[in-house]
Amino acid sequence: MDRQQEFVLRTLEERDIRFVRLWFTDVLGTLKSVSVAPAELEAAFEEGIGFDGSAIEGFARVFESDMVAMPDPTTFQVFPFEGGVSGESARMFCDILLPDGGPSWADPRHVLRRMLSKAAEKGFTFYTHPEIEFFLLENGAQDGSVPIPVDTGGYFEHTTHAVARDFRRQAVLALERIGISVEFSHHEVAPGQQEIDLRYADALTTADNIMTFRHVVKEVALSTGVQASFMPKPFTDQPGSGMHTHLSLFEGERNAFHDAGDPMKLSKVAKSFIAGLLMHAREYTAVTNQWVNSYKRLFPQALPDRITESPAYVCWGHLNRSALVRVPAYGKPNSARVEVRSLDSATNPYLAFAVMLGAGLKGIEEGYELPPGAEDDVWSLSSAERRAMGYEALPENLAEAIDVMAGSELIAEVLGEHVFDFFLRNKRAEWEQYRREVTPYERQRYLSL
Ligand code: GLU
Ligand code: MG
Ligand code: MG
Repeated sequence: MDRQQEFVLRTLEERDIRFVRLWFTDVLGTLKSVSVAPAELEAAFEEGIGFDGSAIEGFARVFESDMVAMPDPTTFQVFPFEGGVSGESARMFCDILLPDGGPSWADPRHVLRRMLSKAAEKGFTFYTHPEIEFFLLENGAQDGSVPIPVDTGGYFEHTTHAVARDFRRQAVLALERIGISVEFSHHEVAPGQQEIDLRYADALTTADNIMTFRHVVKEVALSTGVQASFMPKPFTDQPGSGMHTHLSLFEGERNAFHDAGDPMKLSKVAKSFIAGLLMHAREYTAVTNQWVNSYKRLFPQALPDRITESPAYVCWGHLNRSALVRVPAYGKPNSARVEVRSLDSATNPYLAFAVMLGAGLKGIEEGYELPPGAEDDVWSLSSAERRAMGYEALPENLAEAIDVMAGSELIAEVLGEHVFDFFLRNKRAEWEQYRREVTPYERQRYLSL
């Protein structure tokens, strides 16, 4: 047993914790949990916990269904605010193994780990910093009717909205107590919409933190009598919930995106990385925006009366908020980074980080040239102007995104054959189901024909 494992067992005993939740994530980004008693844990560290993989989305075919969840002791965390028998519980993330002890190709954590090792072979550590938007809604309607936001507030609004303010205070405190540092939190543009930004960390930690974040935010909301929703676009006439993510590569202590001698302070590595993000953007959009609903947000006319701040075209810019990739204003050398703005809050963070890293590394390997930046508001251009400037549109819907992804060697390689095939199959089925649905919108418009 190693020191981390001993630390876990000792902590459980000292704090009299009766439950340990073992967490992992399925291919679609749903958190799965199995509780074990501390007495079982010593064996679990040795052999893992067996489970039926065929019951989990995307994990296995029925004939090869045995899987093993192997707890990762470096992710051990006591949850001081959750009721176990003694008032405390704890959790650890797991890696998923096959019965022969090899990694499961279906485990999103493994998909990300594989890309992180690839980056490490080139001397890079990959850091991410997500800005997570979500809605706080009155508890209730699950029947498809329009939900009611808990307030009517707007961007950075402070004064009036007690529910949201108390909620954010509680959520941020809860996150800090379990070691997830929050950088900012504020009210977002839409009624009931909140944003909480996590401090940057290596991508695996961040992905684990996002999974924990979603769980904690939902729990805190429930305990306040409201519902938290990470749905990409719950309201027709309000902005959706993005998860803009800032990315950087470090070489040891040094930010590899920074170059003091460059007019934009961007290194060659950064420029090729951005070029990779752009070149393969259409291919990875099905992963960063994986639901039918995601595409109601990534749409230039997503709002009737104002400019949206979610991207619809493949381009980059400095201060440009209509661009897919934004390079934030120059700060300290080590804070050099790029912001990808297409991701939404319901993506699987492990897979999303893996595909973006894959695209960026490809740009570095192949020495892609960075196209000129877009300093105009890309939405206000005509489509002819956009074509002339070479700005391609992001996929318009899930069907198009799946088609583009299906033809991508890069995404097949990053996700691995199993996840790639499962994902495409699952998403095609989702699209077919949506496609046959006759909506209230259609009845309203066409019933009188
Ligand atoms: N809610 C916007 C989106 O869907 C982003 C707003 C912002 O710039 O933070 O991406
Ligand atoms: Mg925001
Ligand atoms: Mg942002």
